[in-house]
Amino acid sequence: MNASSKGELFVVATPIGNLGDISPRALEVLRAADLVLCEDTRVSRRLLDAHGVKARLSSLHVHNESRRVRKLVQALRAGRVLALISDAGTPVISDPGRKLVAAAHEAGIPVASVPGPNAAAAALAGAGFDADRFVFEGFLPSRKAARGARLEELRHEVRTLVLYEAPHRIAVTIGDLARIFGENRRACLVKELTKVNERFVHGSLEEIGRWLAGDARRCKGEFVVVVAGAEAAGRGELVVNVEELLERLLEHLPARAAAGIVAGLGGGKRNSLYRKALKSAPLD
Ligand code: SAM
Repeated sequence: MNASSKGELFVVATPIGNLGDISPRALEVLRAADLVLCEDTRVSRRLLDAHGVKARLSSLHVHNESRRVRKLVQALRAGRVLALISDAGTPVISDPGRKLVAAAHEAGIPVASVPGPNAAAAALAGAGFDADRFVFEGFLPSRKAARGARLEELRHEVRTLVLYEAPHRIAVTIGDLARIFGENRRACLVKELTKVNERFVHGSLEEIGRWLAGDARRCKGEFVVVVAGAEAAGRGELVVNVEELLERLLEHLPARAAAGIVAGLGGGKRNSLYRKALKSAPLD
């Protein structure tokens, strides 16, 4: 344990369901801290009580973080040791704390990260999808238009995609994913990690949507959605829009050659592609 007599900020991961998933180092840091900053003191008190940790708790959440940062940095400067936790998992990741961490670095205060549970990493580790490269998108925007736009941006992403979703939106999100990424895209719905009902539901987006619709209880709990990347889903075939491909080729090739390539890739009839190409060929 590294808590020293000079001010230091510890960012400490806590369990995402199974209380046993807290590390001995995390407990040691929480015991030694002058103050433990948490989202909801009642939630964190339960965790600390379960481990016999008698820490002073103070709330730091989305609504008061900006306001509290200056005073907290002053306390760190004055030599206090602060620990930052969230309701569950790793602080800052889809959780509050980033402003405090950034302000501490800016003030030259030592910051230490005490790693541990994180729902995205746990889901990815257990889903069996390519995890050498992945994209963590956290929560999608809640407004329909913004969600659609975000998913359009991600449609051709070749890396594995990891999303968080709330229970009241999980069915809608799987439906949106199927509509925009295609019903056949492979995915894994990861449910209730580290808890008694932990489950990995594999299938196409359409199958997962049907599984959720099969019983209202299946939409309850906490979810991570892991979606295969576009290239992996197409087993090495690129997912391309025919019009877009034609237009890109026309930037470099005559209309006949561009139409021939697109037709050869199964994008349509050579003649109609040629006519389309003639219409959209850039003027010299
Ligand atoms: N900071 C946390 C972390 O490190 O994972 C994430 C906090 S975010 C506010 C909460 C979301 O994480 C949930 O809506 C869910 O998508 C995911 N999550 C948290 N715990 C989970 C669990 N036990 N099983 C599945 N997903 C979980």
